Amino acid sequence: MLKIGLTGGIGSGKSTVSKIFSDLEIPIIDADIIAHQLVEPGKPAIKDIAEQFGQQILTDQGALNRKQLKEIIFSDPEQKKTLEQILHPLVFAEMESQIKQLSSPYCILSIPLLLETQMQDFVDRILVIDCPVEVQLERVKNRDQLDIKTIQSIIASQVPREQRRQAADDIIINDADTQALAEQVKKLHNLYLSLA
Ligand code: ADP
Repeated sequence: MLKIGLTGGIGSGKSTVSKIFSDLEIPIIDADIIAHQLVEPGKPAIKDIAEQFGQQILTDQGALNRKQLKEIIFSDPEQKKTLEQILHPLVFAEMESQIKQLSSPYCILSIPLLLETQMQDFVDRILVIDCPVEVQLERVKNRDQLDIKTIQSIIASQVPREQRRQAADDIIINDADTQALAEQVKKLHNLYLSLA
């Protein structure tokens, strides 16, 4: 199974591109979705997190108090690291197990933090979704209703654009309309089919 690691900064267009691959009947495994599922009530990860951060990180129903956890990790980089050390290995293990169940020529692994977690070797090729920072800001502002300062700090916490471009085997430039995006995806789809 050829594994394509799809990555890019916040608002670059990862979800939009994933959807186009999915319409071409290519399976998508999304690290963000897995990370969310891992902390649903009753899942092992939630027990590890509660042990580390205290029971007050859980709601009365045993769910994760995401808002509180976010506040903790945003204000304390060490705590952020601790959370990542719990979650990231579980996310990659779950991805591995989902890949084993697939039967398609290739699959897309959407991993926003592929480069930040230095997990490049987990995939066979790196596909970067790229766009200018101003476009990222504008898109995230419209999508998430966040203030510019918050978006800027998220972008600053991610790998810089140039570094991401250098790590790429393939790049989709998402600075125009979705039609232009679909054309680039179609070309890569044909490339990946031939490589697979
Ligand atoms: P990511 O998953 O990388 O955070 P998204 O795919 O969610 O980014 O895109 C961010 C926002 O910008 C979404 O609201 C999406 O609909 C919009 N968007 C992405 N690409 C385009 C495009 N080429 N044209 C118009 N809107 C776009």
